[in-house]
Amino acid sequence: MGYLDYCSNCGARNETRVLEGRSRRVCPQCDTIHYENPRPAATVVAVRDEQLLLVKRAVPPAEGEWCLPGGFMELRESAAEAARRELREETGLDAPDLTFLAFCPTPGGIRGDLLVFAFVSEAFTGQLVPGDDARDARFFPLADLPPVAFRCHRELIHSYRGSPLKSAHPVPAPTVGEKRP
Ligand SMILES: [Zn+2]
Repeated sequence: MGYLDYCSNCGARNETRVLEGRSRRVCPQCDTIHYENPRPAATVVAVRDEQLLLVKRAVPPAEGEWCLPGGFMELRESAAEAARRELREETGLDAPDLTFLAFCPTPGGIRGDLLVFAFVSEAFTGQLVPGDDARDARFFPLADLPPVAFRCHRELIHSYRGSPLKSAHPVPAPTVGEKRP
């Protein structure tokens, strides 16, 4: 079975139609248009004493290669919350203050297009322990990094190097029990 072969609403076989200048999968039975959008993800440029935190991936894509800690946003989670959660899950470290760095659109990933929100953290609590999708987690000198897997991550590291942030506008950590509006 191919991607979007069947309608997610009624189960009929989709067909391809050009709508608003784009090729879409559309159901001929119930007219559901299967819109596709980039998936939001979040990552952290975590730096301590001129050293950058990288994780060695335990799962494809780029299994066994180093990259920034991060992952997909969950529902009802902000980009900063996702970045903080992924950092904790993959490295055991908590980042009380995150500063927005940049976002990078990443077309054609293994699970479709991504939109990656990147934050900088320069202070941590907790113990560095690789977990989850990470086989290893280590700080490397910014001036002497191993090869980094994803182009988006390489660009983010480059932007961080070009303009070191001083956590001027940190995104505060949520207080325990805080209700989201
Ligand atoms: Zn349908």
